[in-house]
Amino acid sequence: MKIRRFKIPAGSIREAEALLNDPAELRHLTRVLRLKPGDPVILFDGEGKEYKATIKRLTDRQAAFALDKESSFEILEPPLRIILGIGILKSAKLEWLIQKAVELGVGEILPFHSLRVVPRPEEAAARNRLGRWEKIAAEAAKQCGRNRIPPIHPPRLFAEALAAFPESQKIFLWEKERNRPLKEALKVSSASVYALVGPEGGFSAEEARKAEAAGFIPVRLGPRILRAETAGIIIVALLQFLRGDLNA
Ligand code: SAH
Repeated sequence: MKIRRFKIPAGSIREAEALLNDPAELRHLTRVLRLKPGDPVILFDGEGKEYKATIKRLTDRQAAFALDKESSFEILEPPLRIILGIGILKSAKLEWLIQKAVELGVGEILPFHSLRVVPRPEEAAARNRLGRWEKIAAEAAKQCGRNRIPPIHPPRLFAEALAAFPESQKIFLWEKERNRPLKEALKVSSASVYALVGPEGGFSAEEARKAEAAGFIPVRLGPRILRAETAGIIIVALLQFLRGDLNA
């Protein structure tokens, strides 16, 4: 019997179960193909992922599918693509942040130079510093079960960091922001969010002005001053909780 494919919305997968509510797809499944619970199907989300699955429950309004075991690795990639821009920190801190951000499902990391990045010529000159960061990302991805390794971009200048990822919703972590809580800034639903975190010394007022002018929404993470690496993992975790798969 030919195994049929059905499109499901990327966000409709919870744990190892997927739900289908689309009336046209349901009609095709029940009336035309007359499939029954227990029948095998292939589900695809239209974003390049597909899953082997079995029909678990079937009504006129909803189909529930159990994802087969070997396809569950796919669902470790969150539906929300998070790009973390980070002012270059002391290497131990940046390496720690890379590892934690990968565990939390970050999509890509872009280290940047800004005014208050502390110059550390010995670290900058370190042979293949980027290669080390990539190795940390690969090890973290393997440890947490991701089959996709988030790319670490070569360090950029601040102006280049501001111009990157034009299609993403942009936020920048600004401890001086007084009004806008994070939820407010995330009202717009977009497929990817690009969040900038400053270095240990933070952003200068001029940099904050330039970021806002470039369309980055300033976001405050509570009244306390967090270390950059703390702010970095918090923003990834919060984005994942609010719009990604940490609340799955
Ligand atoms: N300028 C700060 C230190 C910067 S903290 C000082 O007064 O010492 C490093 C980075 O973490 C900041 O650039 C900012 O991006 C982020 N950050 C820290 N605390 C934050 C908060 N409460 N809200 C938003 N971002 C914060």
